[in-house]
Amino acid sequence: MALAVVATTHGVAAARQMTAAGTSKPSMTLDVDATDAPLKILHARMSMPARPGAMSLFYPKWIPGEHMASGPIANLTGLHIFADDRELEWRRDLVETNAFAFTVPDGAKVLTATYDYIVPYTGGAFGTLPSTNAKIAVINWYTVGLYPAGQSPASITVAPTLRAPAGWKHGGSLDVASVDGDVIRYAPTSLEMLNDHPVLLGQHLRSITLWPADSPVGEHVIDAVADSEWALQFPPSRIEIYKRIVLEERAVFGGVGHYRKYHWLLTLSDNLGAFGVEHHECADDRVAENTFVDDDSARRSSLLLPHEFFHSWNGKARRPAGLVTGGYEQPMKDDLLWVYEGLTNYYGELLAARAGLISPAEWLDEVAADAMSVSAPGRTWRPLQDTADSAPFLYTAGGGWLGWRRQTAGGLPAFYNEGTLIWLEADVTIRKLTNGRKTLDDFCALFHGQNDNGTIWVKPYDADEVYRSLNQVAAYGWKAFFDERLRSKGARLPLGGVEAGGYHLVYTAEPNMFTDPWALDGSLNAYGSLGIHVTADGTVDDAWPGAAAFAAGISTGMKIVAVNGRRFSVDQLRRALVASMDAKTPMEFIVDNAGYFKTVDVDYRGGLRYPHLERVAGVTDLLTGIAAPRAR
Ligand SMILES: [Zn+2]
Repeated sequence: MALAVVATTHGVAAARQMTAAGTSKPSMTLDVDATDAPLKILHARMSMPARPGAMSLFYPKWIPGEHMASGPIANLTGLHIFADDRELEWRRDLVETNAFAFTVPDGAKVLTATYDYIVPYTGGAFGTLPSTNAKIAVINWYTVGLYPAGQSPASITVAPTLRAPAGWKHGGSLDVASVDGDVIRYAPTSLEMLNDHPVLLGQHLRSITLWPADSPVGEHVIDAVADSEWALQFPPSRIEIYKRIVLEERAVFGGVGHYRKYHWLLTLSDNLGAFGVEHHECADDRVAENTFVDDDSARRSSLLLPHEFFHSWNGKARRPAGLVTGGYEQPMKDDLLWVYEGLTNYYGELLAARAGLISPAEWLDEVAADAMSVSAPGRTWRPLQDTADSAPFLYTAGGGWLGWRRQTAGGLPAFYNEGTLIWLEADVTIRKLTNGRKTLDDFCALFHGQNDNGTIWVKPYDADEVYRSLNQVAAYGWKAFFDERLRSKGARLPLGGVEAGGYHLVYTAEPNMFTDPWALDGSLNAYGSLGIHVTADGTVDDAWPGAAAFAAGISTGMKIVAVNGRRFSVDQLRRALVASMDAKTPMEFIVDNAGYFKTVDVDYRGGLRYPHLERVAGVTDLLTGIAAPRAR
């Protein structure tokens, strides 16, 4: 592999060029058989030259982009290890349970491991969620990726093949060497880059070229796989908007990218999760089946593709030093996710507006929804910095209590939504300091947009480099600015950007589609009124301590059976909230607390309350300008 160390003024910032398509002799073959994907099992065979003596194979544990030890070791099954044709006895390490130790006998030529990845039908996180069904397989190579323990994945060259179910199509940004029937042979690449290039298989798969390879911006493609052909019939107007996303996004970085080509791997299904995981040259993006054919659904999910694309620069190329560990074995330090995810959350939402996926007014609603989410009471004990430091377990913390732990209704830690607020404030501050001559885009161009040869690379950074770069754009006390926002504990929200931008946060009865962007599942977000989130069947999956419902005795995990004497439905609860405005008596709930029923009076008279941003007369409106398109 090529290794380029770039001289910098700064200790941690040594850039490493990554081998995309290695020309060296493969040190390993990996053959994955996905023909049983509809049965939720993948078969794999890894083979490499044998070296006699003690050795261990390692199953990836700390997964880039997932920020935690989420490698699904429990799903690695059917393992057999051979030296030539002789099976070896293996034993799992008692401390590092992702490692399998064995002894290769003298004289052995070839080491082979055969194993299965069983695909869960529920649960998991990100790439370890359900990933195959009757029509679709999302292949994340790390789930079938045993390799010699202790060896740098960047130094291992793999020749991968993938056998698809008969007749299925394939998509992705991994270089294809040849296709023979249902077997796809990929060009040899490093194990690191292979794991960074998931691929899609599907019966219903359509590749939409937004910009061809010979266009000024290079190859940008949406590879969409769906449960039906219906879900792939994107309106041409939406495809035009995604072409603009590419232009708007690249404009933020001064037109400089860190990829040879970029593909969104878009999975449209109601049973393969709803999330995105970023990579240098692609993203594994999963949304509901109707997302690209239904306008409402498309707008609710509008941040996803711009967000994951933004990560190609912010997260993959420029990466916090604590996340550059040289492989999958060492723990990741997540302390700078307020840059990695926070800045990306701000721009993912904003770029959807700049490109026209949503209107500027809808973007303001999205910022307001972020503000409501971060008003959860957990901010009184957990500083924003700790939401990042806790990320290795906070994403997957289940069982309710989201607001008290500082997770969104979707489970994301607070550095996403609060990241939008503090980076908006940074943007507004730069604009005011420079009388509009500079913006946060200038910081991104300076900090992320440095790549002189168009290759894929990773360059680590620390917080001081972030502050120094901001100071180059506009001199200010940036360290103190972020320190205060990262360390503070208290109910006060960081709304300085909203307010200096000419708006304030208000709550009205008018719905806000972004208070539950991915939950078209019949649930009700009543955080703004009762301080609870309720599923379609009445289960309270979150209750905020200090808010009206919790104060009256309704907590996480209880099930609302009746409201004001009538059987619970989300509509009934919504009507009861409206009626509370003129009610003479408290709202009456009957709740089921794991088999024990009780009646609870909630003294709430505020009606439906959803967050919005409202113009403040006399203060210059900076937010409309921020949301304006800027790509030519
Ligand atoms: Zn992200």
